[in-house]
Amino acid sequence: MQGRMMFQSLLISSLLKHAARYHSDTEIISKNTDGTITKTDWTHISENSKRFANALNALGMQQGDRVATIAWNNHRHLESWYAISGSGLVCHTINPRLFPEQLVFIINDANDRVILFDKTFLPLIKAVKPHVPNVEHFICLSAFDQDVADAIPDVKFYDVVIAEQSAEYEWPEFDENTASSLCYTSGTTGNPKGALYSHRSTVLQSYAGAMPDSLNLSARDIMLPVVPMFHVNAWGTPYIAAMVGCTLVLPGPGLDGASLTALIDEYKVTIALGVPTIWQGLLLAAKAVNSSLPTLKRNVIGGSACPPAMMKTFRDVYDCETIHAWGMTETSPLGSLNQLKSKHNALSDDEKLQIRLSQGRPPFGVEVRITEQEKGMVEQPNDGNTSGNLQIRGHWIINAYYGKNESALTEDGWFDTGDIATIDADGFINLQDRAKDLIKSGGEWISSVELENIAMGHPKIAMAAAIAAIHRKWDERPIIIAIKAQDSDITEAELLDYFSDKIAKWQIPDRVIFVDSIPLTGTGKMLKKDLREQFGSVLLESETN
Ligand code: AMP
Repeated sequence: MQGRMMFQSLLISSLLKHAARYHSDTEIISKNTDGTITKTDWTHISENSKRFANALNALGMQQGDRVATIAWNNHRHLESWYAISGSGLVCHTINPRLFPEQLVFIINDANDRVILFDKTFLPLIKAVKPHVPNVEHFICLSAFDQDVADAIPDVKFYDVVIAEQSAEYEWPEFDENTASSLCYTSGTTGNPKGALYSHRSTVLQSYAGAMPDSLNLSARDIMLPVVPMFHVNAWGTPYIAAMVGCTLVLPGPGLDGASLTALIDEYKVTIALGVPTIWQGLLLAAKAVNSSLPTLKRNVIGGSACPPAMMKTFRDVYDCETIHAWGMTETSPLGSLNQLKSKHNALSDDEKLQIRLSQGRPPFGVEVRITEQEKGMVEQPNDGNTSGNLQIRGHWIINAYYGKNESALTEDGWFDTGDIATIDADGFINLQDRAKDLIKSGGEWISSVELENIAMGHPKIAMAAAIAAIHRKWDERPIIIAIKAQDSDITEAELLDYFSDKIAKWQIPDRVIFVDSIPLTGTGKMLKKDLREQFGSVLLESETN
């Protein structure tokens, strides 16, 4: 017997309809590419989105066609997102920090018909345009601009395009499994691969992401997604914001600490999300201008491990609760988030902090397991000690990569994340490392993340990467590549000594190399592959000297 309840497809357009209907005057504050601020609201986002959907229709776009965006987090980008997915097209967000060859590869692989771009990326568009012959339209996300018009023949301007269209548009109804958006992995090894999300997966992830044990978002929140809309859809926040009807503060191109501190204080941001490198800049800037970030109640840190010292500073100095989250492009990305349970209520603040440093536990809708490292499908106990391959399955987890016939899953239907982790009986995941970043010294594994956390806990260190250096006797030994904090005079011996009471003796790194900068990926993660290439032989070199 079937249930006698209505069926409605879970569509992205329904999120915007809800926000426009029940949160019509809730503000969206957007920093434009030219630095000015636009204040709009869900009604106007919805109206412009409908105008742009009409414009895409007029350009002859057909269901399933890919429309790409290379843009900052701003209101035009938000409107175009809803227009593209809502009208049945696929919104392909492109990370502008990729190398031009990777951009060309991605645009051609996705077969994008239209590219929307912010003026900032004009040089990039000029460089890639000759190599992407299938792109029919370039639309600059601004009012008419002579420089852009001179540089790109036939370019269109978003404000001009939408001004010509009506705000009357009926969002089409279609199967909820229809593709909605496309995001490529960062491709640090090999060519990037596309994760193709669906309307259903996006809406279900939004429900899960809003829950109290996830981001705990409500219509009373003022949310600042610092994480870019081109980095796994800003972790789903533009969708969750419409679902709960919160205020969005979109930071545009200013991702430096000073700009973010100013935005948080001026617009009374209650929750902000970003990768650790962003928070590092913010903490320095907040200190410099003597701001206590009084409204910021929660911050979400993910994308890389949250250094313990950073979480402690947010707690002790800013009275801000850090939610540590884990995920990846293939998981949409919300895989786990860290919130405590009632049995933790009686713990001391420091004991709670210890638990909150883990990557958290899965929300309803996804499941995780660890399997034995060599064999891949033998499940390991969730005892908090045994580590193995972290695998995941659920409503918003990839099934197969875009354009590929083969499944991306294990034979028994799980996605192997490439991360090595432990899971405890409560489901808390502790990420040890990326499988490829683990350091194998004399047959024993050493976690690079653990070494980095210790090094970054030293007040005289600004940033640190732990990598494997080739060693004749032990195969690999850990070394630290570090940036000193401003005005710090720390020596190699001093930092090595700092490790001595924190880990086993054989895990203490062999060397510390101080550098002025550490290369970062397009999404702000340390590029350890490059560091290994540059410094991986230092222990061999010192042997021969
Ligand atoms: P991406 O698909 O580029 O977002 O990268 C996903 C990878 O980032 C994951 O597989 C992890 O290795 C890493 N990652 C994401 N969140 C965390 C976290 N909270 N702690 C440690 N590593 C993380």
